[in-house]
Amino acid sequence: MTDPLRHVKPAVRALKPYTLAARQAPIKINQNENPFELPDAMKRRVLERALARPWGRYPEFDPRELTAALAQLAGWRPDGVLAGNGSNELIEALLLVTVGPGTRVVIPEPTFTLYALLTSILGGESVRVSLGPDLEYDVDTIAQARRQREAAVTIVCSPNNPTGGTLSRDEVARLCVEGDGLVVIDEAYHEFSGESVVPLLAEHENLVVLRTFSKAMSLAGLRVGYLLASPALVREIDKARLPYNINFFSQMAALAVLEERGEMESSVARLRRLRDALFADLQRLRGIRAYPSRANFILIELEDREPRAVFESLYAAGVLVRDVSTYPRLGRCLRVSVGTEAENEALLAGLRRALGEMPARAAAGAREERCPNAESDVRTEPRRCARGKGAWSARRARRTSVSSSIWTARAARRSPPASGSSITCSPPWPSMATSISTCVARATCTWTRTTRWRTSASRSGRPCAKPWATSAGSGASGTPTSPWTRRSRAA
Ligand code: PMP
Repeated sequence: MTDPLRHVKPAVRALKPYTLAARQAPIKINQNENPFELPDAMKRRVLERALARPWGRYPEFDPRELTAALAQLAGWRPDGVLAGNGSNELIEALLLVTVGPGTRVVIPEPTFTLYALLTSILGGESVRVSLGPDLEYDVDTIAQARRQREAAVTIVCSPNNPTGGTLSRDEVARLCVEGDGLVVIDEAYHEFSGESVVPLLAEHENLVVLRTFSKAMSLAGLRVGYLLASPALVREIDKARLPYNINFFSQMAALAVLEERGEMESSVARLRRLRDALFADLQRLRGIRAYPSRANFILIELEDREPRAVFESLYAAGVLVRDVSTYPRLGRCLRVSVGTEAENEALLAGLRRALGEMPARAAAGAREERCPNAESDVRTEPRRCARGKGAWSARRARRTSVSSSIWTARAARRSPPASGSSITCSPPWPSMATSISTCVARATCTWTRTTRWRTSASRSGRPCAKPWATSAGSGASGTPTSPWTRRSRAA
């Protein structure tokens, strides 16, 4: 029999898939989710509404109520709003109707990898534009690439995942007037920056804005996103949207979050404060460069430690971060989402340990890696970082004390694994599986000891991907206290 894969487009077969290793950890700060759960009362209201509705019937063909509420939220017209099953679906719908073989799409990099992946699947050409020396957007380079390559679409993530920088409203307006190609601004994290280009929609018919309920709105599990553009453009993009794309339950949940917007706003304000505090703490660590971020995550660059080794060291301490070292220009970087106070403390403690006890790399020279799916570059050679080595040595001496008291007190309140659950993997330290506090306390163990555990675990053939996982899952033990829950309890 001939190989059925020969029917798959060569451009697709050449691609690396967009994947995320399915790891779990008590402190999960790898996907830029909101660590503060929605209040139980709100969840119950959604459940009650869902119970009152027949489940055997399709959701509305056009989710009008949701669209109207989204229009009000954004301050844009309802016929210029398209709701989607997460903003990923809308990125896909948008590219489906605009990109075909040879279509050029300008994409600054490093950025969210889905834009380039979908462009390639559709036969388009990603025109990669490198960020500036400090990983900031360089609007001149983007404008130049659009002009020179006559790009049909330009996609800018602002704040950018994973670097955290933004393109200003004026810069976006400039792109919109310099050529008629579509300018797509992915505002997945805009609540954390407090800025938006939505006010430009009225003047610029080639502007498209993407947003999501997965980050600030604490609804990643229910998949709701939305797109804002001119009504004419929305009608075209809507043709590529699958019918009944948002289930009724997710619609109800999104509406409930919008009904109680004040709660969401205080959660965002709290995360912004936590981000700024975490950034300040990270800056005090020797051997790390933290990039300023307008989002709910921070990119960190390791001076002379291998990102993968630091990632694994943190993971062994129960802290799951995102290894972005395969992204172009981020060969020494990890991305950490902003967590609760306790989670941020655990991250800092884990980093101090990893940085203090791991041997430095033999050759600490910069390693610039290319994205496996890279096609063409406008600026092929990224400029060297202007801050250079001096920036590292200028850092203040790192703190040695870990403010573990808050952490321990909070963590102790968290529940141990559900009774009856069995440990699927022997933890590095026997007591680790029993509570998250133990996990962090044990983070004081040495790197050497972790390594020894790993070595013996792999020798004995035991599964060791999730040191503290239980067959009942680790969610319960890792669920932080919601500020909302706390407030409503106090009230
Ligand atoms: N855009 C960006 C920049 C993102 O980081 C993400 C999620 N990682 C998405 C879009 C997709 O979000 P959603 O959950 O709404 O599909």
